[in-house]
Amino acid sequence: WAKADGKARWTLFDPERNEHRMTRQALSRTLRQAVERGEFVLDYQPLVALDSGELRGVEALVRWEHPHFGRLAPNRFIGLAEEDGSIVQLGRWVLAESCRQARAWQQAFPDAPLVVSVNVAVRQVWDSDLVADVAAILRETGLPPRLLQLELTESAVMGSAGRPLQALHALHEMGVRIAIDDFGTGYSNLAYMSRLPVSALKLDGSFVQGFRSAEHPNPADETIVEALVDLAHRLGLTVTAECVENAEQAERLRRIGCDTGQGWHYSRPVGADVISGLLA
Ligand code: C2E
Ligand code: MG
Ligand code: MG
Ligand code: MG
Repeated sequence: WAKADGKARWTLFDPERNEHRMTRQALSRTLRQAVERGEFVLDYQPLVALDSGELRGVEALVRWEHPHFGRLAPNRFIGLAEEDGSIVQLGRWVLAESCRQARAWQQAFPDAPLVVSVNVAVRQVWDSDLVADVAAILRETGLPPRLLQLELTESAVMGSAGRPLQALHALHEMGVRIAIDDFGTGYSNLAYMSRLPVSALKLDGSFVQGFRSAEHPNPADETIVEALVDLAHRLGLTVTAECVENAEQAERLRRIGCDTGQGWHYSRPVGADVISGLLA
């Protein structure tokens, strides 16, 4: 099963990592049980202000602690969870756990407000009552809506008449931030995005990876990012660059005027306790 843009969503067998082979049916069966058994954990990856170096937020990234196969990355099971519908239940858990954790950080470190950014699958917008779920979770956890950001992909919001569009507007009115994830890999219709209640763009990692290097002395990517950041700012959107892996990329992005960066240069995705340590 592959994504439309060619990125593999999940593979049955990864010879490089010598992981066990699982049938699709077996995985699907255990996925449903795994949500009930609480086999998922969240790591958090910092979003850092490029100018000041301040920690601005964290993205919650789900991992499956599989009893036999060990820790599985999301690309091994999110695609399947979307296909078999278990993403709705899993997504609800991710939202609830992220908001609970964000509220705990807010209470422990009131002077360092941290936005928690949560990935939302297409199917959660279409097949579940996302708006009611978010409202209930915010109420139960006590997290202020402005400290929650939802990441949707372009394909989730493109041409989103009806239900998804209503959901976006309702969430925006609630005070929740909406970010477009992996921007630049899909339709990249900034004019369209600007008409949606979107607060932020997350530039896909491929842009930064295409920045100037020994192999690419004159890449177009830097020019494109500069133009995108400028246009996004004029439209009132903030911009986060994904996959910032070194100081040179961070410096170029800072000069271009990009707002925040996320990537291994700052931190790998880490457990909540490590983020607590950073805040302390
Ligand atoms: P994403 O939302 O684009 O998340 C960023 C991915 O980039 C993460 O992979 C992160 O570990 C990786 N990354 C971060 N910094 C760097 C870097 O400097 N270099 C490189 N090469 N990679 C970096 P991860 O954790 O494997 O997640 C993969 C994808 O799975 C996510 O991509 C997201 O689309 C999806 N995902 C993760 N958690 C959830 C979830 O709770 N719900 C849904 N629906 N999707 C999720
Ligand atoms: Mg994301
Ligand atoms: Mg992304
Ligand atoms: Mg990405």
